[in-house]
Amino acid sequence: MKLHLHLTVESGKRLLFLVAGCILAASVYANRPTQLHCLGNGSYCVFGQGADIESIFGPGYSSPSYLQITVQGVDSTSSIRMPGTAIWEHTLYKGGEVIARFTDFIDSESAIYTRMVDCRAAFTMDIHVVEDDKITLANGWYDDSSKHSSSLLIYKDRGLSIYGNYDHPYEQFQHIYTKGNIGLKQKEQYVYTLSFEPGVSELYCIGGSSFQQCEENSRLATMRTASFLLERTKKYWHSYTNRRTNFEQLIPDNFPQKKEVVDQIDNVAVILKTQQSDQGSVIAGHRYHLGYVRDQYGVSRGFLAMGYYDEARKILQFYWEIWKDFGYIRNAQAIGVPGVFHQHENDEVEITGYLIIQAFDYLYKTNDTDFVKKILPMLEWAWEVQKKHLVKGMLPFNGDETYVAGGILPRSALNDGSAEATLLFIESGQQLLSFVEENRMWKAASVASDREVIKQTKAAYLQNFVSNRQIMANNPSRLTIEAMPPYRHGFCAGSHGVLETKKDNGGNYLCPKCIAEGLTFPVIERKTYFLPSLALTPAYFGSSLIPQDILDYNLSVIIDNYNRKGQVSSREDSAVTIGYEYGFFLYALTKQKEKLAKRILADMLSVVDETGAWVEYYHNGIPMGCNYRPWESAINIEAMILYATSYDK
Ligand SMILES: [Zn+2]
Repeated sequence: MKLHLHLTVESGKRLLFLVAGCILAASVYANRPTQLHCLGNGSYCVFGQGADIESIFGPGYSSPSYLQITVQGVDSTSSIRMPGTAIWEHTLYKGGEVIARFTDFIDSESAIYTRMVDCRAAFTMDIHVVEDDKITLANGWYDDSSKHSSSLLIYKDRGLSIYGNYDHPYEQFQHIYTKGNIGLKQKEQYVYTLSFEPGVSELYCIGGSSFQQCEENSRLATMRTASFLLERTKKYWHSYTNRRTNFEQLIPDNFPQKKEVVDQIDNVAVILKTQQSDQGSVIAGHRYHLGYVRDQYGVSRGFLAMGYYDEARKILQFYWEIWKDFGYIRNAQAIGVPGVFHQHENDEVEITGYLIIQAFDYLYKTNDTDFVKKILPMLEWAWEVQKKHLVKGMLPFNGDETYVAGGILPRSALNDGSAEATLLFIESGQQLLSFVEENRMWKAASVASDREVIKQTKAAYLQNFVSNRQIMANNPSRLTIEAMPPYRHGFCAGSHGVLETKKDNGGNYLCPKCIAEGLTFPVIERKTYFLPSLALTPAYFGSSLIPQDILDYNLSVIIDNYNRKGQVSSREDSAVTIGYEYGFFLYALTKQKEKLAKRILADMLSVVDETGAWVEYYHNGIPMGCNYRPWESAINIEAMILYATSYDK
């Protein structure tokens, strides 16, 4: 049986404890940890769930995880992140007593995860390794000539999924190594138990892309003390934190939630940095070990809002390196694994608009014209490929939008006109054309002809997407079912995953398996959808495409909706709020100086989870979907920063 990638956390008798007088912020008092947090140094990555380890992956962020470590037989755990760092401290309780304290971190310079353990009473942890014929276990492999150590090497052959059906093509090594009063015993074929006895001990997980690298990192862990690694890791994090814009100074002292917002900025700075790879791209949370264009747009905005310009530039640099080799960028790209792309239905639209706007967001903050000139060929590509999808002044949906992935807009609408993709086309084109014109990089005739395309698309926009003053998400008149592409790569109607599909007579896209099984589906519905949060995107993008009175009207509908329901939820009939809707809403309210902003800020702070993160979705305020999310956390913090720094009352 394969290990399920979902941890079963002991339920029942866990108690709630408070740590009083603690100097650390972002305290977590979990009686049953549900949410994940990330430790990562850009190459090696761990997601923790309280004191349990939910996943370990790397070296290389686009790697699979094939082991988990769970603490056994404790009543409760409290977990605290040291401010300004990704160093976590966990306290384990049993029978009302502290039985152990852990300090967890990943070395800033190598693929070494360290858990420093101060054990007061014996307890155990189980190591669960994924049961797969690509995994080989070697117990006691490492000899450091010490009596007080134990060692388990986990060797992964080529294979195992990074995400979906995208396999990791390289061999990889993970070494579990202990020093001190810890015993290691095999429990089942793929389960080992670590027994901790009172005293000070250390548990390491050491990664390697090669046998040699794993052994060299193991030598480092043997020769250096854990305190040495901890000290240099602290320095690394403090230097990152010190590079941040000084919000203590920038946010007025009379702003009532100043401390909460400043602490939350620290949470998000660490959420983003731990998930940013050495190559620059930021993974989209514990489930998605790839660089997604849409997600990284929001992340880039978050970095820029906090003063992390280098981090923002590195995301663009990541795309540039891939684009130079392949000539395209897809919905998501593997990090450090060339040629692995996560392709969606229409990857030449929407994300390409984001890519261009991201480059100019960076330029406006930094004036780094040389860099934008360097990556211009990629931006020109991103512009050209959008143009060929224009039909009646509309571009289609990309297919991986949160509102599509979350089932809020049906996949049958993907070839309809998309208000968002079309807006991004116009905005990205305007910015690109101004840049190439100012810097005399294109012939005047090319600029003029593209300006004409934008002019016509703008002229048709309100007609296409505004109906009775409401901004519609889609317009089915872009294509008839007959005119839709005969084949596309994306989700099949029969839920067999993301793969090659073929259109049936009713406009459904079926994979070979659907066809072989003779699956049939009703003709797709051609209707328009109103998604309130989409009406907030023009404010977020600073777009003046839609007249302010229409934006004001749409904002007033959303405000009424909120006042009636008491929650920021995307649709009239739903209790599900998309995680970034809070940020979009606060952003628009702040721009319009609406009083409701104050309440939305309080709502946003109230749904921050015990790790300090915002997540993918909320159901009546309860976190759902992917945890510790860079995109939602980045958008929400940018809106909070805008609100807090412009507070004048
Ligand atoms: Zn299928």
